[in-house]
Amino acid sequence: MKDVLDMFKSYLEQQLEFGEDELLLTSRSKSECLEALREKVERCTRCPLSVTRKRVVFGEGSADSSVAFIGEAPGREENEKGRPFIGSAGQLLSKAIEAMGLRREDVYIANIVKCRPPSNRVPRESEIASCLPYLLEQLSIVNPVAVGLRGAVAAQSILKLDWPVFKLRGRVFTYSEMKLVPTYHPAALLRNPDLKRHFWKDMKLIKGIHEGVMPST
Ligand code: SF4
Repeated sequence: MKDVLDMFKSYLEQQLEFGEDELLLTSRSKSECLEALREKVERCTRCPLSVTRKRVVFGEGSADSSVAFIGEAPGREENEKGRPFIGSAGQLLSKAIEAMGLRREDVYIANIVKCRPPSNRVPRESEIASCLPYLLEQLSIVNPVAVGLRGAVAAQSILKLDWPVFKLRGRVFTYSEMKLVPTYHPAALLRNPDLKRHFWKDMKLIKGIHEGVMPST
């Protein structure tokens, strides 16, 4: 997991470079830190998606959650409402969270990229590189035990691996005390219901980590 470690290191260096270390070094509560970060992200113009977005989709959920789910980028509905995972794929994710015995508001949900790419195209590498520090800061504030990475873009961007999802899924990657569990994006399940059994296996992995049952990796 050297790559993930390197990524977090370079993120911290970037924080210092941007003069934004006060968010990490503060004595404020997690919720206050997230709110301060949200205000900053909502003004962000670091990449061209700021021109075409309607709303910034920062992320939502419990600042104290031990479980987080990370997706790719906002879609049409998310861009309208400013909330992550609220379309049909989001409803599927909410059902999966409930099947874990949790409520949607118990977990933390965010995306790799905070502004919608036009026509739902895949975010460009430069856009991901511009936006990823915000997500890393969110994760460092919430500090979840288990992080579900939804879809290839989320998993590959965080893990710095270009493996396809079918090769990444079913595994648990470790960074510090965080367990990262890649799986299919819920939208992929809507297109191909055969993937559901793999998705549910991966949700069970996350549930096990959340409940303190550490899976073998
Ligand atoms: S996608 Fe991220 S980096 Fe780009 S403008 Fe939106 S918030 Fe800023």
